[in-house]
Amino acid sequence: MVVENDANCAAWAERMLGPGRARGGEHDLLYVVMGTGIGSGLVLHGQVHRGAWGTGGEIGHTQVPGSGRLCGCGNRGCLEAVAGGRALASVALEMAKASPSSRLGRLRARQGALSAWDLLREAEAGDAPSVEVRDRAGLAVGGVLGSAVNLLGVPEVVLGGRLLYRAPGLVSAIRKGFREAVLPQVRSRARLRHARGWEHRNAVGAMLLAQQNAKGQAKGAGRGRPAGGF
Ligand SMILES: [Zn+2]
Repeated sequence: MVVENDANCAAWAERMLGPGRARGGEHDLLYVVMGTGIGSGLVLHGQVHRGAWGTGGEIGHTQVPGSGRLCGCGNRGCLEAVAGGRALASVALEMAKASPSSRLGRLRARQGALSAWDLLREAEAGDAPSVEVRDRAGLAVGGVLGSAVNLLGVPEVVLGGRLLYRAPGLVSAIRKGFREAVLPQVRSRARLRHARGWEHRNAVGAMLLAQQNAKGQAKGAGRGRPAGGF
């Protein structure tokens, strides 16, 4: 049995139930979940693409030039270490410590802690240092997503995850980074859109994907091929 990560499940739910389904064909897509980390699921040629080691499509661990921050994976400079919720919270804390009289500094004094959402809310309220961190994070995410479209040729990137709720400024920065990175000749066609009901899609996707895997195994057994083989 294959235990899928949430992003693969959500990607598959989008493949099977999302608006792209109506366009028919194979409907390739990249699904990105922005939460404490940055997860992603890739559907290529009508299949969840896991690659040789099961780590395929993990855009959260793409290297971002100019960042040396330590990532949870052990590498430095990953996108997740720049723009994941955990990373934003730790940057907010560093900023608050460095400048206790700033808005984040005063917020930390009142609350005792800071979250990524605190930083995003302060950015939405116009706090310049928070805006700078948010925009840098959003542009980095958008840039990596645009590069992923160039590399893979997927026509659609779907964004989900708690970090995007009530953070239109972050979404704008992601869109800007995406537009700047996508090849000019496909810029008008490459889609970047919000997921709808992503939290349910994980569960629905898990079910649909389990069905798909079971079908693949039955087919593979019938043909003497390894289960789930491409
Ligand atoms: Zn990493």
